[in-house]
Amino acid sequence: MSDLTQQHCDRIVANWKTVVGEVADAATAAGRSASDVKIIGVTKYVDAATTAALVAAGCHDLGENRPQVLWDKVKSELIDASVRWHVIGHLQRNKVRRTLRHAPLIHSVDSGRLLKSIATESVAINQSTDVMLEVNISGDDSKTGMDASELSLLLQDLPSSGIRVIGLMAMAGWGTEPDQARQQFAQVRALRDQLAEQVGNPLSELSMGMSGDFAAAIAEGSTMVRIGSRLFEGVMDYSSRATNQ
Ligand SMILES: *Cc1c(COP(=O)(O)O)cnc(C)c1O
Repeated sequence: MSDLTQQHCDRIVANWKTVVGEVADAATAAGRSASDVKIIGVTKYVDAATTAALVAAGCHDLGENRPQVLWDKVKSELIDASVRWHVIGHLQRNKVRRTLRHAPLIHSVDSGRLLKSIATESVAINQSTDVMLEVNISGDDSKTGMDASELSLLLQDLPSSGIRVIGLMAMAGWGTEPDQARQQFAQVRALRDQLAEQVGNPLSELSMGMSGDFAAAIAEGSTMVRIGSRLFEGVMDYSSRATNQ
């Protein structure tokens, strides 16, 4: 998208307000406080100017699934430097060092090797990196993430410094209906409760819920929802979405 019109900016502001309202309603319905659920604006579909419009609308947590795009957007003068970046896609180990410079929260740690590499590189730059471990809850082979036994082993043998594991991240399986998604989110929470008890780490954050299923995720205890397409409705054509992921 090359030219961002005022109309597009207005639409992003309206979308942001709608999503903030729906997240608050879902929290209230679940007997929770709206401030317990953080909205991560997923900007992988849009360019730096459109990303900046979302920040101007009030979204200060941005998620990208490609490290290269995150690096480029950090460099962009359009985007406020106070933004907190979130890595939500697979992170190759050779991209860890460069990504850590931007002090992101990494949601998508999908292997012990990646976790070790984040720990080592964090120690080298005197940093402690908050991470979440990605659960493959749908059992879908095409999905990334770890199963319950891998998670349990990993949590019992964590690197001793450089990282802090603050919770779990999960995605419902492709094509899952919202009520089935809710069951999957409930499983993630149950797994979290079990692991928390087993390893003595509260794992208090649950990163789950996207545009189509965030209400279900919030009902099951999500503390971070990762929302992309709902925020950019009416701003860009999603016909190419599949190829953007
Ligand atoms: C794209 C993406 C999202 C956002 O999905 P929407 O359905 O557009 O809200 C959330 N999480 C991850 C890991 C993604 O890749």
